[in-house]
Amino acid sequence: MYVKKHGRDFAFPDYGPNYPRCPDFRLEHIRAKIWLYVRERRIEGEALLRLRSLRDGITHVELDAVDMTIRAVSGPKGEPLDYSYDGERLTVFLGDNKKAGELFEVIVRYEAQPKKGLYFVLPDKHYPNRVPQVWSQGETEDNRYWLPLYDYPSMKCTSELIVYVPKDFVVFSNGRLVGKREEEKWGVWHWIMDKPHSPYLIALVAGYFDVREEEVDGIRLVYAVPKGREADIDRTFSRTPDIIKFLSDYLGMPYPWGEYKQICVSEFIFGGMENTSITILTENTLHDEKAHMDYESEPLVAHEAAHQWFGDLVTTKDWANIWLNESFATYLEALYTRHWKGMDEFIYKMIKNMDTYLREYKTRYSRPIVTRVYKYSSEVFDAHSYPKGALVLHTLSSVVGEDTFRKILRRFLEKFKYGCADTEDFRKVVEEITGKDFEWFFDQYVYNAGHPELTVEYSYDPEAKMLRITMRQTQKEDCWDVYRLPIEIRYKAKSGWVRKTFWIEKKEQTFYIPVEEKVERICVDSDFKTFAVLDIKHGLEQLIGELKCDSVYCRILAARGLAKHRSSKAIEALKNALIGDEFWGVSAEAAEALGKIGTEEALEALLDAEKKVKHPKVRRAIAKALGNFRDSRAAEVLVRILENKEESYYVRSEAATSLGKTKWRKAYKHLVRALGAPSHNHVITVGAIRGLSELGTDEAFETIKKYVELGKPTVVRVAAVVALAKFPEKKEAYDLIMEAGKDEDFRIRLAAVMAAQEMMSPRLLPMLDRLASEDIFEQVRRRAREAARSIRKSLEKGVEYRKLREEIEKIREENRRLLDRLARIESRF
Ligand SMILES: [Zn+2]
Repeated sequence: MYVKKHGRDFAFPDYGPNYPRCPDFRLEHIRAKIWLYVRERRIEGEALLRLRSLRDGITHVELDAVDMTIRAVSGPKGEPLDYSYDGERLTVFLGDNKKAGELFEVIVRYEAQPKKGLYFVLPDKHYPNRVPQVWSQGETEDNRYWLPLYDYPSMKCTSELIVYVPKDFVVFSNGRLVGKREEEKWGVWHWIMDKPHSPYLIALVAGYFDVREEEVDGIRLVYAVPKGREADIDRTFSRTPDIIKFLSDYLGMPYPWGEYKQICVSEFIFGGMENTSITILTENTLHDEKAHMDYESEPLVAHEAAHQWFGDLVTTKDWANIWLNESFATYLEALYTRHWKGMDEFIYKMIKNMDTYLREYKTRYSRPIVTRVYKYSSEVFDAHSYPKGALVLHTLSSVVGEDTFRKILRRFLEKFKYGCADTEDFRKVVEEITGKDFEWFFDQYVYNAGHPELTVEYSYDPEAKMLRITMRQTQKEDCWDVYRLPIEIRYKAKSGWVRKTFWIEKKEQTFYIPVEEKVERICVDSDFKTFAVLDIKHGLEQLIGELKCDSVYCRILAARGLAKHRSSKAIEALKNALIGDEFWGVSAEAAEALGKIGTEEALEALLDAEKKVKHPKVRRAIAKALGNFRDSRAAEVLVRILENKEESYYVRSEAATSLGKTKWRKAYKHLVRALGAPSHNHVITVGAIRGLSELGTDEAFETIKKYVELGKPTVVRVAAVVALAKFPEKKEAYDLIMEAGKDEDFRIRLAAVMAAQEMMSPRLLPMLDRLASEDIFEQVRRRAREAARSIRKSLEKGVEYRKLREEIEKIREENRRLLDRLARIESRF
């Protein structure tokens, strides 16, 4: 019997469904004057809202406005209007009854010290070098902390900001700048967005910036970075014209907004935010020449640019359908990678998308991509909405063919531009363009939880001259029972490769294919066309063959498969792939596999490869893999990597973490020295902190403590707080985590929650319960509640649980030693 699959552990018992808000008026235009009192972190505002009644007899409107002091509410000529305000909703009484279609205006004068939505970055005694900046982050529902409006994605309006700032400030906002003047002590900047967009996409940035502009195909491209970082603009953003061109071409629709600004700001709380025509990005995406070796801004730039179509031009109608923004941007980002770097990079990116989703699926929860059952809108911004949805779109593209897929995207954009859509709207466009029914596809991939897992067994019968392939769907209970999906198989006999596509529609299916000569190789979905977790029952010889396949997907699956084999032959093959594969991703996977194997032979393979391999991303993987060996040879190589300034920052960072994992007795002094090494986004410092936490000694703890303190960069503090979790025997570690749970910066509080989640200690339950119920950031609340739940669950399982874990660790160590001995005996024969 088919049962709806709601997933597992995502919704808490008290959660209920969220349906779209549906007011009886439209917000058509908002024109706000904002005075920024920067030092006081305070604003004064005057917002004029032009509204249209959708029915007869409307007497009042409800607006979203959080934590404001309302000074006055009036009509357009200044006539005062009655209102009531409870700190969240501002109800304005219109004084008369409005008719359906009638246009009217409301003016709200207010003050606020926004706790969210608008952020003031200012120097203080801990961070005296900070340069003042003000920037907004509206998504999901935070613009209401600084603008009274109707704050819901389905409401589309034009917008206008007139911003009063200190005279030397520069201001950016949506649309185009129509005026800039001085008025008394103020600089006044007037920005207009004359196409309708959703309120959460209204944005404001003010501060000191280096600005560069160019024009490409009639689009004005603006890059703004904190003063002094101009030299990094090119390296970070030079592919923007190519990205915009690619997207316009792929989607068959020109860039919609006339100009496109990318503004890098300090202390940004996310990677990037795709406000209409003005993307705000973390300044950490700016990077120097050295970081450019193996750090790329392009994925972030492409993702946010893609949102200008999917998200801004066509917007999800509500948060339940957020995949219409995020999965599309994530998939288009991958498609840009294909255009830029080729098919191998694309496939590897999709594999990594699958890994990211599976990590969330395994360690946290599963849910349908579209679900109404959540408590906070931010909860649906997860690995189901981003990477899993991207995999679903990729599968859709494979099923209908890419040309048709592009027609679907184009039609969808055409049909809903400057408006909103939900998943059913998208499904209907798919059906309109293909002329086929697609309920089954959306049911299994979008409206139900889980993903297909496919076990593939095959054998060749030389007498019957028959290739037999059995495919079984082995996904767990929380997944859709039986998926319908195409799987392409190719097999190689003497006369060459043959490709066949099989439609899987049952729990188990066996296919018989007559083949005259012996089948030497068989590959499953070698072009990565279908989203399914594959378990292909290759033997050792076949895996070694697959590791030399011309398909990147096959090679990577083979490397992962060989990690479980541990024989000399497997290690030899992996070593060859590590040193010789033409694609860095396969080499990196081979290194990881060798690390997992963990035997003496595997260590030797890694040490030898380290001398030969140049690609920084492969070196990163080697450095990571070496952390699996408690061996002074591994440690010495890691020290050499860590202290070599020619290496990439990221390789050195990984080496620092691994050095700690080796538990080498001399590691401490090297890690301490590494703490001060300058690097992109402090990655080496962060790697060293992680290394110290892995080392786990008293002196390591004393050092980490200093990096929790205010005054250190935020990413470093986050790493240090998380690192405290590795010291469960120290009372002080708990005190510091609890202190971090009270920090002003929500990212530090989130780090405290992560530390608690790792420590699994009931001592931290009071902190988690407090954060879960009262933190102003919903992300913190959600994570705290999740951590508290897992601690309580493990308490129920009792003390034996921990003992069992220790026991398993011992057995693993023992097993490793036995394997080493076995390998030595083997090599003797
Ligand atoms: Zn996004």
